Amino acid sequence: MLDDTFELTVTDLKQYAYCPRVFYYHACLPDVRPTTFKMEAGIDAGERERYRSARRTFCAYQVENGERYFDVPATSVELALTGIVDEVIEVAGAHTELIPVDYKLSRRAGHHFKLQLTAYAELLEATYHVPVRRGFLYLIPQQHAEEIAITKSLRRNLRELLSAMRLVAQLERMPQSGHPARCRNCEFKRFCNDV
Ligand code: SF4
Repeated sequence: MLDDTFELTVTDLKQYAYCPRVFYYHACLPDVRPTTFKMEAGIDAGERERYRSARRTFCAYQVENGERYFDVPATSVELALTGIVDEVIEVAGAHTELIPVDYKLSRRAGHHFKLQLTAYAELLEATYHVPVRRGFLYLIPQQHAEEIAITKSLRRNLRELLSAMRLVAQLERMPQSGHPARCRNCEFKRFCNDV
């Protein structure tokens, strides 16, 4: 029986999106270091972007005024999920809202990035009891903030993905390779004998 309280992090989601096996190694073989070169590059770029973002105006996010917070921790008991949001914009007033911003070393706002942003939206709602209707993926190479609506469909997809991840972790079943093109430069290649 699947345990829905098995705790996951948004970092787990990122690993699963990069390749489900990277998540599997992390969850089932914790002595194996689960960070690939590309993931580390993404983390470094995100940290550099945080400093630039602090000086950026709110125009990039189509907001006139607000408060900006960085590295905001948040938790959802319902999803058994925790994470730290790169940046959160708080817009006060008649329609108070929180807007998560996730920095990405990518030129495209892919579906898996939208799911990570949805995870942050759910975590912020659960922790701060303020609605999150939208967020931004800040595409670092293009210096462009893309607005993403947090839709019911994305929320449903997120729950399906978390269930699939829990299945992998609890049954300790190695998943298929998600993205064969990434195997060439992957430091886990020596563990994946079939790629
Ligand atoms: S070698 Fe390929 S299948 Fe194995 S973890 Fe890396 S990307 Fe995934």
